[in-house]
Amino acid sequence: MKIAVVGTGYVGLVTGTCFSETGNHVTCVDINEAKINQMKAGKVPIYEPGLEELFHRNVAEGRLNFTTSLAEGIEGAKVIFLALPTPPGEDGSADLKYILQVANDLGPLLKEYTVIIDKSTVPVGTSELVKEAIAQKAQVPFDVVSNPEFLREGVAVEDFMKPDRVVIGTQSEKAKEVMAKLYAPLVRQGNPIIFMDERSAEMTKYAANAFLATKITFMNEIANLCELVGANVDDIRRGIGTDSRIGKRFLFAGIGYGGSCFPKDVQALAKTSEENNYQFHILDSVMKVNENQKTKLLPQVKNYFNNELVGKTIAIWGLAFKPYTDDIREAPALYNIDALLEAGCSIKAYDPEAMPNVQALLGNSIQFCKNPYEALEDADALMIVTEWPQFRTPDFDKMDSLLKNKVIFDGRNLYELSQMKELGYTYYSIGRQTIQ
Ligand code: NAD
Repeated sequence: MKIAVVGTGYVGLVTGTCFSETGNHVTCVDINEAKINQMKAGKVPIYEPGLEELFHRNVAEGRLNFTTSLAEGIEGAKVIFLALPTPPGEDGSADLKYILQVANDLGPLLKEYTVIIDKSTVPVGTSELVKEAIAQKAQVPFDVVSNPEFLREGVAVEDFMKPDRVVIGTQSEKAKEVMAKLYAPLVRQGNPIIFMDERSAEMTKYAANAFLATKITFMNEIANLCELVGANVDDIRRGIGTDSRIGKRFLFAGIGYGGSCFPKDVQALAKTSEENNYQFHILDSVMKVNENQKTKLLPQVKNYFNNELVGKTIAIWGLAFKPYTDDIREAPALYNIDALLEAGCSIKAYDPEAMPNVQALLGNSIQFCKNPYEALEDADALMIVTEWPQFRTPDFDKMDSLLKNKVIFDGRNLYELSQMKELGYTYYSIGRQTIQ
């Protein structure tokens, strides 16, 4: 099948590459000329495990192409994916300007029946708006399908190639047939394609992200309470996660969720509720708790240094909003860096993938280090923000020799309390007793 993917970010590039891997001919369209030129020159613009190999293979075999021209990109395409940004607008609702702009442009370009698939996360009712925008100038029949994406950054290729489920919102039999054919190679193990109407599909995506954000936040609140009552949140996690009704995943307490999806999607769903005169109390709390959770370690840092932070150097391990990605959108690290700089600290940071993105954002206001240990040289304390696996079993002796004080503020609970006690560290973590 000939496919066009409009918007070549984390979702679009993974979608395009994976569908070319299953034998389709895919053209990726993006208005970012630098990005398209980079890809034409054989460079993958984002870090996503497994993506490079697929990208190079399919480019070499002529199934994956790139262009900045929408007209050229959709030439002959039976299906057109929209994988465009839907950032929060000023009032918190999802900003649909990118999607509606492309929908407007698409109308006059369609030459035969085409299925236009919305892969972006969009508020309920958007597929109708997209349909109206295209219909204004379209001369041929078309269908607009809602096909929300559930991939996780960091394991996006795996998630896309073997999805737990595929949700497809359409009431058109013709579109259903095209979609089933397209996804058949990805659900061979029997995972379901769930068909529903467009509005329900749009809502499903928000419900999934809001539920997951709530699950994390619930656990963070349990952690906060654990600190006050002298319980250990890791034990609680094990104790409740083994209940199959609760499940083991998404129960790790930490310094809040970030990323390009949970914060904006929770906010957008709250906005949808508000527009429908419904107060979604849980979402309001989730947003509030997460906001505080992100900088939860700061009072402890201040306390440790007797409120004298001016001139202190803090090493930060991890900048990405989670491991295995270079994405720093809404990353808790950024909030902590801002607050520490404001308090007069210097920052020495290390992240295996996200440093170029942070440097593009913050310039040289913080120091970027070649490895985790360089960040510790002459630092007054270590703060751990992202749970990259390489931070899990560091050389503690080496750390000792580099850090000025044996103190770790761990926002991801990487180490056992007994180990920290034995090593003689002052160790602050989330939802567990402080070791001093
Ligand atoms: P992104 O910002 O990484 O990529 C969007 C791309 O669209 C950019 O490359 C941008 O240049 C391009 N673009 C903007 N306007 C354009 C236009 N008029 N024509 C062509 N290209 C244009 O975004 P993303 O993370 O891939 O997210 C896209 C959508 O998918 C969002 O709605 C998001 O909520 C949703 N989503 C994201 C994830 C994720 O993990 N990132 C997961 C599921 C769903």
